[in-house]
Amino acid sequence: MRVCILLYSTFIFFSTSTTAFAQTPAPFTLHDLGHGAWAAIDNPAAKAAQSGSNAGFVIGSEGVVVVDTFENIAAAQDLLDDIRQKTNLPVRFVVNTHYHLDHVAGNNIFAAAGATALAQQNVRAWERSENLKFFGSKITAKQTEAVQSLGLPSITYVHGVALYVGAQRLIVRSLPGHTGGDSVLYDPAANVVFCGDLFWNHTLPNLIDASTGPWIATLDTLLSDYPTATFVPGHGDEVGHAIDVREFRGYLAYLRTAIQKAQGEGKSGDALVDSVLPQLEKKYGSWNFFSFAKSDIAYTDAELRGKKRIPTPVVP
Ligand SMILES: [Zn+2]
Repeated sequence: MRVCILLYSTFIFFSTSTTAFAQTPAPFTLHDLGHGAWAAIDNPAAKAAQSGSNAGFVIGSEGVVVVDTFENIAAAQDLLDDIRQKTNLPVRFVVNTHYHLDHVAGNNIFAAAGATALAQQNVRAWERSENLKFFGSKITAKQTEAVQSLGLPSITYVHGVALYVGAQRLIVRSLPGHTGGDSVLYDPAANVVFCGDLFWNHTLPNLIDASTGPWIATLDTLLSDYPTATFVPGHGDEVGHAIDVREFRGYLAYLRTAIQKAQGEGKSGDALVDSVLPQLEKKYGSWNFFSFAKSDIAYTDAELRGKKRIPTPVVP
């Protein structure tokens, strides 16, 4: 699995043609979740041509709703092509689960196909500004222009919205944790929750914008409201179920507890990271993206000290 979002590949981000990948495995694999719901799971075998995140779509009786549009623009076109193979119904809506580039880079592909993008209001506010930080201080003019050309949601909401595509009713809810502007989409017919990056399946999360306390409460809400659902993660090689969401909740809780203990022992900075890292490795060393461990510790240390920088929310 490619390291997402901290190491954007310019090759992928600016790709608009699948021609170069003709001999490589598909950037994602589709998983049939029943009742017209599909998960598009990032394919590690595609290496540099991976989609960069997971996505999904729901085919209703009068249209299609897409959840997230990948980091790899060529993969977004592939996703649209795959949908076109399955139905001639219009792609009515794109729901962006949050602003991170690896979930919105293909928005323009779906806009060109006539879809309306919608998201929590902070997504629109942050998409073309906060995404710049992932390129670091050496960001090029081309990268800046690409971020500032990202397709924005044209409908925003604060707490959520219901979408109707014929008989199908889909529920979009905003919940805190990963960025402060995250949403999930629940499909009651298929009993599927498209989680975006509020759920990483056996994968260490990127906590750059996170508030882990509210995030744990969000996971409790999801587990309580959808105990038997299939959960499509934003990252991770498979769809999950309640047991997997509980394990992810366990990671965040363990991280906080280990850091609080180290803080209580007077540790800070590198000494704190050095004391917590072996504990994390013992328990979670086999998870994907373990390379996020050091930054997860540092961000959560800052959060627990009340010193974490998070993006400024829009005032409703
Ligand atoms: Zn994210």
